[in-house]
Amino acid sequence: QSQELSQVRIDYQAALQALVEDGTRMVCSGRMHTDRVCRFESLCYSTEAEEFVFFHSNASIMLPNLGPRRFQPALLDLSSVDDHNTQYFNFIELPAAALKFMPKPVFVPDVALIMNRFNPDNLMHVFHDDLLPIFYTIQQFPDLDFESRLFFMEGWNEGLHFELYKFMSNKQPLLKEQLKTLGRLLCFTKSYVGLSKITTWYQYGFVQPQGPKANILVSGNEIRHFAKFMMGKLNITLDQNAAEAYIVLFSRSMNRLIVNEAELLLALAQEFQMKTITVSLEDHSFSDIVRLLSNATMLVSMHGAQLVTSLFLPKGAVVVELFPYGINPEHYTPYKTLSTLPGMELQYVAWQNTEEENTITYPDRPWEQGGIVHLETKEQERIKKSKEVPRHLCCRNPEWLFRIYQDTKVNISSLIQVIKSTVKTKLGLRRQKWTPGLYPGKVRESKCQASAQGTSEAKLFVSWQIPWNLKFLKVRDVKYEVWIQEQGENSYMPYILSQQNYTFSENIKPFTTYLVWIRCIFNKTLLGPFAEVLVCST
Ligand code: UDP
Repeated sequence: QSQELSQVRIDYQAALQALVEDGTRMVCSGRMHTDRVCRFESLCYSTEAEEFVFFHSNASIMLPNLGPRRFQPALLDLSSVDDHNTQYFNFIELPAAALKFMPKPVFVPDVALIMNRFNPDNLMHVFHDDLLPIFYTIQQFPDLDFESRLFFMEGWNEGLHFELYKFMSNKQPLLKEQLKTLGRLLCFTKSYVGLSKITTWYQYGFVQPQGPKANILVSGNEIRHFAKFMMGKLNITLDQNAAEAYIVLFSRSMNRLIVNEAELLLALAQEFQMKTITVSLEDHSFSDIVRLLSNATMLVSMHGAQLVTSLFLPKGAVVVELFPYGINPEHYTPYKTLSTLPGMELQYVAWQNTEEENTITYPDRPWEQGGIVHLETKEQERIKKSKEVPRHLCCRNPEWLFRIYQDTKVNISSLIQVIKSTVKTKLGLRRQKWTPGLYPGKVRESKCQASAQGTSEAKLFVSWQIPWNLKFLKVRDVKYEVWIQEQGENSYMPYILSQQNYTFSENIKPFTTYLVWIRCIFNKTLLGPFAEVLVCST
């Protein structure tokens, strides 16, 4: 493991002079601290102060120049988790002249991506908060590539899944702790600070109960591109015509157990006439797990971070997520949301243990593993009697922890019934190739002719041409939606038409001005944009 920054020798005197003369330069994208990523030249970091330093000179640039708003609450989020107050980034400011009195800077020649990992010991967090955002932040900025150096500033050690982080760069990622060994004052020649949040689909419930993000911007296509990249790094080649269909049971060995796992395996094998394989993070290498999942027909697992690996399942596969007693599956949907992203093409099934006699509780464990004996007796009793954990905020709700860390004896017939009633297509059959919906363009050359007949009747003749992109596409079903709105009114009359012209006479009054809105619809669901509104007076 080489920790040297680079073999490239840089001209130290020239670099130092440039720093003193030019100072730090920063230009950011994003309007708010929550969607900001900043590009810096000559951003420095004091390993003694544990602070980033912006050196002001005549040539410095700071965009946005927020003044005191830079601290309200911060310049940007250093992790991909939205507005988390332990993840804020800022720098302190000094005149470049102060360099004279400071330790000799050590220059970092690699382009740096400086960020925080959010929870590097939890596999869901590793993928959702770190790996996917790193992968797509690197694709967003042309200076960043797999030769860039990752700097993890959250202060954690390597963590359980460091080998996965190493796939994101050909250079060894550096931890905050290691920076001290490099020098007292580090200066990043060129760096990006922060992560794109464009691929995240879940919010963990810091300000409102957890759930899918309000405005999901990622589709299965991008998730699967990333999965393919990871599989390349794991040396996994897809065996498309693998002979046998099989079911993977992803088990947990420490907590949240399935106590009748052997029985469950047998029952699944019998019911679906397939081989069943058990894997766990404790007993299998990550690449073995991914290799198995990438050809699996079904993945069955207790709710938990290991389920993020469903992003490696082939299209058409089934994800079966099991929930302990008292845990409402609708309230905890990171894996459901992932499975059902458009283009992910997975079938998702949730099963919940509803029988109290089939749950095993652990009131005596430490609180973080769901123990409740530290609580007042009355509260303990209330929790034990409660049949469902009410919605709650992250992360220390004792009732939630008590219930989520239960072991479960799975009622096999109820589980198989739920799977069979949800999974409609025959198992093991690859579904039809998903093509992303291509949307129509605007209709073209739209025209409107009004004619009044006497003082009581009138007509509107409206015509248009097909959207420009239609002639390059094979579309099963092309329709046009026309809205006729009387000027000044809020309501309109909608029509769905197959042809490219129509004479409207119903409810059309003489001596009236109408606004006509037209858009094209592909395959009933793909709504195009409205063309420029037509104004016609009868
Ligand atoms: N984990 C595991 N086996 C276990 C318990 C946990 O592999 O018996 C893994 C789990 O998949 C996750 C990490 O350990 O990556 C932390 O688990 P925790 O229960 O804290 O989080 P959760 O799975 O509920 O997100």
